[in-house]
Amino acid sequence: MADTIAAIATGVTVSAIGIIRLSGDGAIAAADNVFRAAGGVRLFDAENRRMYFGELSDADGRLIDLCLCVITRGPDSYTGEDTVEFHCHGSAAVLSEGLRALFSHGVRHAEAGEFTKRAFLNGRMDLTQAEAVIDLIEAETPAAALNAAGQLRGALGTRLENVYSSLLDVMAHFHAVIDYPDEDIDEFEMQNYLSALRRAGDEFDRMLATRARGRVLRDGLPTAIVGRPNTGKSSLLNVLLGFDRAIVTHIPGTTRDTIEEKALIGGVLLRLIDTAGLRKTNDAVEKLGLERSFAALQSAGLVMLVLDGSEPLRDEDFDALRSIPPDVPKIAVVNKSDLRHVVGAEELERLGQALDPGLGQALDPGLGTMLASCRVSALTGDGLDALESEIKNIFPELDTLPSGEIITNARQADAISRARGCIGHAIEAIGASVTPDAVLTEVEAALSIIGEVTGKTIREDITQRIFERFCVGK
Ligand code: GDP
Repeated sequence: MADTIAAIATGVTVSAIGIIRLSGDGAIAAADNVFRAAGGVRLFDAENRRMYFGELSDADGRLIDLCLCVITRGPDSYTGEDTVEFHCHGSAAVLSEGLRALFSHGVRHAEAGEFTKRAFLNGRMDLTQAEAVIDLIEAETPAAALNAAGQLRGALGTRLENVYSSLLDVMAHFHAVIDYPDEDIDEFEMQNYLSALRRAGDEFDRMLATRARGRVLRDGLPTAIVGRPNTGKSSLLNVLLGFDRAIVTHIPGTTRDTIEEKALIGGVLLRLIDTAGLRKTNDAVEKLGLERSFAALQSAGLVMLVLDGSEPLRDEDFDALRSIPPDVPKIAVVNKSDLRHVVGAEELERLGQALDPGLGQALDPGLGTMLASCRVSALTGDGLDALESEIKNIFPELDTLPSGEIITNARQADAISRARGCIGHAIEAIGASVTPDAVLTEVEAALSIIGEVTGKTIREDITQRIFERFCVGK
């Protein structure tokens, strides 16, 4: 018996439509108590997945809303249980009154993620799909949404399931060997199992190789905005964000700490980090800010070096450029294009050569680790499209459409890497002709770890923690 839960499934802002959702054995009965369909159809007799127009009323029979109601009987519903949705007018008052009316008929408020948890527990989806639901809801970019949708369709679960099944074969064999120790393992068969283990290892490696991309998809590409003071770093951050996040003044050293915000630019989610201006200083606070700037530089996946295009380049500009780790893609953003141009192509070439004297043409943006450049005005917004194109040039692969292949979830990545470790040990054990039970132990451990990801073998407390991340109503 599943008790009946209800929650508002839509956001809390005023909107055209708001949805109240119910699930559980008593869902249809509870809904029937508060809803009268026009034409007199009772919800017990209603067709599955058909919208019925009617009146939603409270316990005293007072009209709350004229709305639509749809029922889906289990087990073919989202949760696997009988479910009902009321599509009401999207007012917080209407929705909370609707909920209250349901609570007076024995329904309780759903916990965070409880609908999806029930879907998982009732076998409607595996854990990778359940986690994709939350990723889809939280997706900040089209690419992140596409990846989550692919995982919701089962992309990751299916891949893991295939590995699981091939490992199960290996395990069954080794069990047989332990049960009948007098029988020798055929060399041909041994090679078969070895190659199955290697294939599993390779598949895990392929999954883990997407991890860096997954982090960018989920958290954004760490992008440090650096340069000497007063070149317009904070102004650039503000114009890229579309709102004033950083304080802009003409006084050098205003930004003393790093400021972080996300923005979607050129199809890439950037985690922009405005740093304190890079210059020598004796000011204790500014020094701390500088330390953070250098830390931001070390972990950056992209650096925007902001230059004041209205003044000749200074040594500090060259110093700032040199402080960027060599293998990080960089863009020289020549700012203040609304003023007279002093920094031209020649100066930029000089800068590029300073970066790598061996490369005369260090301005080729196609080569990610070198120096691309563009001319912008953070004041007027001119040239931002050129900056966007440079970012697209450097990270074309982040723009391609993923289909659920990218691992964005740290828990999953950790488990896959542990499973990979076990497979490695199993292969070594076979190579060293260790007893079959050593191989078996490793393969069994790998299977159990895969089960943690797909949800086959997962502890209740971990399941609980996963679903706590969800919003109520999902
Ligand atoms: P930061 O120290 O590098 O963060 O520089 P700020 O963003 O604080 O800007 C320093 C000064 O340059 C301020 O007075 C800004 O108004 C000015 N500034 C920034 N960008 C531009 C620009 O594109 N054009 C002009 N004319 N002034 C700018």
